[in-house]
Amino acid sequence: MDKQTFLQNLAQIRRRKLLLIRIGASLLFITLCTSMWLSKTRISPHGLLMFKGIAIAGFAALVYSFIAMLQHMSRRLGLHCPNCSRNLSGPLSHKVIASDQCFQCGMKLF
Ligand SMILES: [Zn+2]
Repeated sequence: MDKQTFLQNLAQIRRRKLLLIRIGASLLFITLCTSMWLSKTRISPHGLLMFKGIAIAGFAALVYSFIAMLQHMSRRLGLHCPNCSRNLSGPLSHKVIASDQCFQCGMKLF
């Protein structure tokens, strides 16, 4: 992979991360609004507790699936080091771009 392709794939995965963060934040906001609305209705405390438990479990499953999707996508786009399999699309990707090397093992990438 050349550096131009790496930069394009890095931009693509950053856009996907931003999309998933927006979806997650929107769902969290909707869940919080629903919880506030439910607390003002005549729902029993047991029902409200059950809603909160299901909402927390659902949100945790959603975050886990988002992270798994991003990991799969970064592996598919070749954003992992071929030597040590480290993900190169994380917050240290600027080191990879500046040095053309893996920040973990130092392998020359481009
Ligand atoms: Zn490496």
